[in-house]
Amino acid sequence: MSGASVIHVAGAGVAGLAAAWALSGQGRPVVLHEAAPGAGGRARALPDGTDNGTHALLGANPAALGFLRAIGARQGWVAPEPDRLPVLDLESGALLRVALSPLGWWRRGARPPGLDMGGLLALLAAARPGRGGTVAEAFARHPVLLRGFVEPLTLAALNTTPEEAGLRRLGAVLRRMGRPGACRLYVARDGLGPDLVRPALAALAARGVEIRLGDRLRGISVEGGRAAALHFAAGTEVLPPGARAVLATPPWESARLLPGLRVPVLHAPILNLHYAHASGTGPRFLGLLGGIGQWVLVRPGAVAVTVSAAGAALRTPLEALAAQVWGELRRAALAAGLPGGWPDAVPPWRAVKEQRATPLHAPDQPAPPPVLPLPNLALAGDWMEPVLPATLEAAIRSGFRAARALS
Ligand SMILES: Cc1cc2nc3c(=O)[nH]c(=O)nc-3n(C[C@H](O)[C@H](O)[C@H](O)COP(=O)(O)OP(=O)(O)OC[C@H]3O[C@@H](n4cnc5c(N)ncnc54)[C@H](O)[C@@H]3O)c2cc1C
Repeated sequence: MSGASVIHVAGAGVAGLAAAWALSGQGRPVVLHEAAPGAGGRARALPDGTDNGTHALLGANPAALGFLRAIGARQGWVAPEPDRLPVLDLESGALLRVALSPLGWWRRGARPPGLDMGGLLALLAAARPGRGGTVAEAFARHPVLLRGFVEPLTLAALNTTPEEAGLRRLGAVLRRMGRPGACRLYVARDGLGPDLVRPALAALAARGVEIRLGDRLRGISVEGGRAAALHFAAGTEVLPPGARAVLATPPWESARLLPGLRVPVLHAPILNLHYAHASGTGPRFLGLLGGIGQWVLVRPGAVAVTVSAAGAALRTPLEALAAQVWGELRRAALAAGLPGGWPDAVPPWRAVKEQRATPLHAPDQPAPPPVLPLPNLALAGDWMEPVLPATLEAAIRSGFRAARALS
């Protein structure tokens, strides 16, 4: 496909998929180029169908839920714990049942640990826009609330430890939590392949979007202050006057393609441990307090544990880590009364490490660059989000914003 009206989108992660969807909705011919053999980027299914990592959404993610609805995939995202989230405190052995929404905290038994009047005021103060400093500093006088609620939330939403995380981004999350339904947690019932990536590709194909997998963008020729040609693995696409493009690649790749671009340089890893396990139940979702991992996703044939901000955990050999984490999740599954056998012996497992899962959300994280670094080229990606942390919501918002900027 060529010509002035074609829009080339480089990168078929969630941001690129959303950008291609929005642009094709404007009636434009779109070609989506992806370097890898499959789409989805950091939210993808591995060749054997396992998710690279558990991905959860919240009711407070309107762009992501709207995108799923638009591509006909919304019904695949289900609320595994519609009432309260079971959380095992591994130190005390207590199983808590915590309402994620502040609207549910009127029930004493549903409150996060440490949520007294002082803690509530600290949360309200943290939600004010423009707060500097780290999360740990803001909650230093509320250690129980920090450990029992703020730290898990910070790890889940920012993939950064409270000691390193900037309060400003957590504040943006907290501000969205008070709305009805905002804290409802959703996961893909069958996995990211069937519930996200495949429906997105099918919906794009139905709109005539051409999808070229294994077609890496190797370089961009800039002439006269505009993108003049895109050099893909499969060949060069010359951009005649009026032609536009979206760069929906990760920050390090965007900086390689557009030297001098301001991008985040510090990233944080996420480790997922996947265990073969025939519980026959699911999806179910459990929290772990005081353990190596934070979240347990149980699906009928497998259990996955997420270790966010996994830098410290990754210093332990994986074999030992997998055994320790199995012990922790097993205690939580037994405490929560999940069906299935939960033997002592560690079942077959695999580890999926995403070294650059998200940017590190430090207080001094640089602001993202303009959406249009060149008049005919827009940037998309989770790292382009100025307010929210880098998540699916941020990636999808950025894809839509890039499409708007080019219209
Ligand atoms: C393990 C893990 C767990 C996570 N959990 C959650 C969660 O629970 N909830 C949540 O909301 N978010 C979660 N996230 C974050 C979320 O996955 C990301 O924010 C989001 O997927 C980023 O999408 P993106 O399109 O911006 O970037 P990417 O997914 O990185 O997409 C960029 C795409 O560009 C491609 N590409 C790179 N270079 C080129 C090139 N030169 N030419 C063409 N293509 C190129 C890449 O292959 C990739 O497909 C998690 C991330 C990880 C890794």
